[in-house]
Amino acid sequence: MKRLKHPLYRMWVRRHLVKLQGGFCCYCGRSFTKRGATSPTIEHKKAIMDGGTDDLANLAAACLHCNQHRGTQKNQSKQKAAQKTSVAAP
Ligand SMILES: [Zn+2]
Repeated sequence: MKRLKHPLYRMWVRRHLVKLQGGFCCYCGRSFTKRGATSPTIEHKKAIMDGGTDDLANLAAACLHCNQHRGTQKNQSKQKAAQKTSVAAP
């Protein structure tokens, strides 16, 4: 499998996904712009840390805003989980 870390491959994947989705974000449905909050980013449908892969089937194009928002939500739930764990610990 190709590694997503290669910048040229990333660029190709992002363009491919944007084209595949007709130029719209997979979450909010806004059309992508070149810059700003609605510029396209590569989103893992299943996060790498949850066992997801860099396979095209696991990737989607999301706008920067949605991508960041999702990331924040995940971090918050992780922090909550960490707090629970520390409370439960003796
Ligand atoms: Zn979006």
